[in-house]
Amino acid sequence: MMDRRGFLLGSMAGAGALRAGVAGVGGAMTLGGAAWAQEPAVHRFKFGEFDVTVLSDGVLNLPVSALAQDMDLKTVQDLLAERGLPTDMRPGAINVALLTRGSDTILVDTGSGMNFMDSAGKLVDSLEIAQVAPDSITKVVLTHAHPDHCWGVIDDFDDSPRFSEADYTIAAAEFDFWMAEDRVDQLPDPVKPFALGAQRNLAPVAERTTMAADGHEVVPGITMIATPGHTPGHMSVLVQSGGEQLLVTGDAFTHDVIAFEYPDWHFGFDMDHVQAAATRGKLLKRIAGDNIRLLGYHLTWPGVGRVEAAGSGYRYVAEA
Ligand SMILES: [Zn+2]
Repeated sequence: MMDRRGFLLGSMAGAGALRAGVAGVGGAMTLGGAAWAQEPAVHRFKFGEFDVTVLSDGVLNLPVSALAQDMDLKTVQDLLAERGLPTDMRPGAINVALLTRGSDTILVDTGSGMNFMDSAGKLVDSLEIAQVAPDSITKVVLTHAHPDHCWGVIDDFDDSPRFSEADYTIAAAEFDFWMAEDRVDQLPDPVKPFALGAQRNLAPVAERTTMAADGHEVVPGITMIATPGHTPGHMSVLVQSGGEQLLVTGDAFTHDVIAFEYPDWHFGFDMDHVQAAATRGKLLKRIAGDNIRLLGYHLTWPGVGRVEAAGSGYRYVAEA
């Protein structure tokens, strides 16, 4: 087990190595002038008994080649061009969900903090715009422990939990995977920082973390469902109220077009490509069949929409 100093050192080394790591996933990445940015932003809607607030953590700039590693780059770029999307860079939104009802104020994922990408880490500013104090959050649910989801757990200045009054919930499988003592050594170099960062953020709140399994009830009306593949213990969050369902999908779907129309394509950051594709296939059937609304972490801001059948597959229809 690493001590506190170990976490700090690991994180400092990790922050620099990470950019190289991200670039390494899909080949060349040029940030430069092509990088996209998004100001802090808030989008609210009512969902049954719940008030849903989508908070922007900024934007994640990824190389287009990471969108489908098993496909020829030109095929992917042609598809993106046809849909009027940028072909040199994938600007992914970062849509953090806040679910409030009565005394429950539940944050799903914590954004990236300040150590991941310059274009991310704006959750705290968005919370301020929404007039939500970090210490008013009662529960934090983590879909998984990738940097853009859990590096915002701790305050970057003193490592204290940013949401000081909150309890935490994450899949036991996810926690165990990242916290394993030999995990850093086992992972390939580009993603070692992912494990260091997860450990640095999860350890300080481990004492107040509930280890969830498929079907875990966070509070009545909010259930975690196992959607593995992107990471070993990846979970989505199902909100049920007034006969309606809303699925906060984390990174089960990471692109408005590809994840829905070509769910079998291998997204570069899916740790188990085959399992991730199978999960997407199963979810698409359920979401379309039950007319579930979804809120996707990296879908175009604010990431709220539905899935409908299209030809032999599906497509994502964003809400205006
Ligand atoms: Zn993500």
